[in-house]
Amino acid sequence: MPQCSECSHYEEIDETKGDCFGHEVAADRDSEECPTQAFEPRENE
Ligand code: SF4
Repeated sequence: MPQCSECSHYEEIDETKGDCFGHEVAADRDSEECPTQAFEPRENE
């Protein structure tokens, strides 16, 4: 199952957490728990 740290909306703050639309989320949050179902896979660069 993808986690927030794999989402294109996630901007890493540190290794345990990141910013998502101005809200702090845990890096290992399950994308199925995404409140807006906005998970999009991060593009491989
Ligand atoms: S949009 Fe959803 S899945 Fe993506 S980082 Fe934010 S909470 Fe996580």
